[in-house]
Amino acid sequence: MRCTLCPLKCGADREKAAGRCGVKGLTVAKYYLHPFEEPPICHTNGAGAVFFGGCSLRCVFCQNYEVSRAERGKAVSTRELAEIFRELEEAGADCIDLVTGDHVADRLAETLSLYKPNIPVVFNSGGYISMRAMDLLEPFVDIWMPDCKFFSKKLSKRYTGRENYFEVASAAIARMAKKPVRWDGNRLLSGIMVRHLVLPGCTSDSLKILDFLKGVLPEGVPLSLMRQYTPMGNIEDFPELQRKVTGREYRRVVGYALSLGFSNLYTQGKESAELAFVPDWDY
Ligand code: SF4
Repeated sequence: MRCTLCPLKCGADREKAAGRCGVKGLTVAKYYLHPFEEPPICHTNGAGAVFFGGCSLRCVFCQNYEVSRAERGKAVSTRELAEIFRELEEAGADCIDLVTGDHVADRLAETLSLYKPNIPVVFNSGGYISMRAMDLLEPFVDIWMPDCKFFSKKLSKRYTGRENYFEVASAAIARMAKKPVRWDGNRLLSGIMVRHLVLPGCTSDSLKILDFLKGVLPEGVPLSLMRQYTPMGNIEDFPELQRKVTGREYRRVVGYALSLGFSNLYTQGKESAELAFVPDWDY
């Protein structure tokens, strides 16, 4: 069957060969209790993060590029993945954190129909997700956690090859934002949390993203402004990406978010932009 699951709609026959997302079936590069996710989803023992191989976005600066380019990962069945969810839950995970599974949404929905964990299921997405993938996942996902990466078509084209990133991501985020938000104290049980990675030289784009988010997100939704950009990935041809974000750039973005009235903001210190925060792959 021709795959049209993600916005690329490349039509690959995934029974036989990988599509543009880089994977044929379902692969897991790593799973573990991840202590560095944001406090609403990571409050006691860590988020039960599961990193899937492949990606339909493939940013040139990807911090997990070995995984997104499907160079790492073990093929797993949906039953085996359900066992991974159980294992993480038994280890005390605060949530199941599905990292970049947009291109395997059908397999994830199948897995979650086999076993729905008793802790929140977080769908941690690059934001480049189709409505069809969301339809499949919606019955099982408790917390949508999309990135909103680029506003400008020029930037998304340059860094991902996809000119329609904002068109796709803004529609997805507007839909995700309709999910009712529920908290248990400081723990997010249901709803949406949005992330934006500040990139070097791109603060004007960040401000446009904040304007969009302000218009679409309900009051009190957590917003994470990430400063952890570290030069890595396939950036030899992108000299502007070969440095970290400066304090001045980051403060400009955070200051603008505060001026717009974002009341539940998560920020990062400059020490977050270190290779030590990038996981080792394989399990
Ligand atoms: S999920 Fe992969 S195979 Fe399916 S349309 Fe997207 S890139 Fe192609």
